[in-house]
Amino acid sequence: AKGAGKNQWRRYQAHLHAEMVERLELRSALDHAVNEGHFLLHYQPIVDLAAGTAVGFEALVRWHHPRRGIVTPDQFIEVAEESGLILPMGRWVLEEALRTAAEWRRILPAGQAPYMSVNVSVRQFRESGFVDQVRAALTSTGVPANSLMLEITETLLVKDDEQIWADLGILRDMGIRIAIDDFGTGYSSLGYLRQRPIDVVKIDKMFIDDMVTSQQPMALVSGIVNLAQSQGLVVVAEGIEQPAHRDLLVKMGCPLGQGYLFSSPLGPTEVLAWLRNTQS
Ligand code: C2E
Ligand code: CA
Ligand code: CA
Ligand code: CA
Repeated sequence: AKGAGKNQWRRYQAHLHAEMVERLELRSALDHAVNEGHFLLHYQPIVDLAAGTAVGFEALVRWHHPRRGIVTPDQFIEVAEESGLILPMGRWVLEEALRTAAEWRRILPAGQAPYMSVNVSVRQFRESGFVDQVRAALTSTGVPANSLMLEITETLLVKDDEQIWADLGILRDMGIRIAIDDFGTGYSSLGYLRQRPIDVVKIDKMFIDDMVTSQQPMALVSGIVNLAQSQGLVVVAEGIEQPAHRDLLVKMGCPLGQGYLFSSPLGPTEVLAWLRNTQS
């Protein structure tokens, strides 16, 4: 029995070691990717649920890995955050998303260009000069501030991080929309968000998934939609996969949504084809 315990311990150690090596390898590959510019953006439409047309697009980063192909962020964002590589990567994401937004504005008829929504990590906000970085990116691309939305994840917002809230206030005063991402997964209430510089709440997919089959999440979503709208916030429901989800949300008065039902995230040229097929 003693020998078995020892073996188990060795296996455990070996497992830990393998995991550590894997993380280190990922980190150095990511570092290389940042230097070489091995990233690309896909864009998912944010849809007016009643009309079925896009009002905006969310930029979602992908890593074009030389061997593994297209890698999605769930496999590298965490390491990017820990290592600080999210800073140069996030800067690239913002600039690339705005370059694309500028191109849409050139190609599409006046007034029909959708806005661009960009995910920002709290770490980027903590970096001094983030506000200036955003301002410079808008100026150099010529995209107006009201064509940009910034998404910040609810769970990462520390309640009393007043510096972040102050910066969000400045960005919002410039005309940029501010969205709370993955709403419902953290601890903030809509009452707390009321005094904060926010325009949009995005309800996490988890709640949308359960909505059709069970009463409790449905009441929760409907409660969030009503309360948010009474506070002047715009609601986006995430992860809509079924027509039944959409129909329920429309009944609740939820104005906007995203999900595979409308489109998965698209490459930049696919976006224009999608727009041609849906907008009219
Ligand atoms: P998120 O911001 O909540 O983005 C939504 C995620 O759900 C995306 O995954 C999207 O592809 C996926 N999705 C959209 N509709 C559906 C649906 O109907 N069903 C299902 N099952 N999934 C759907 P993705 O692209 O893998 O991104 C994962 C997360 O990585 C994002 O979650 C976001 O937190 C983070 N992320 C992505 N791009 C960036 C970025 O440029 N910067 C930062 N800081 N984080 C990013
Ligand atoms: Ca997001
Ligand atoms: Ca989200
Ligand atoms: Ca998420």
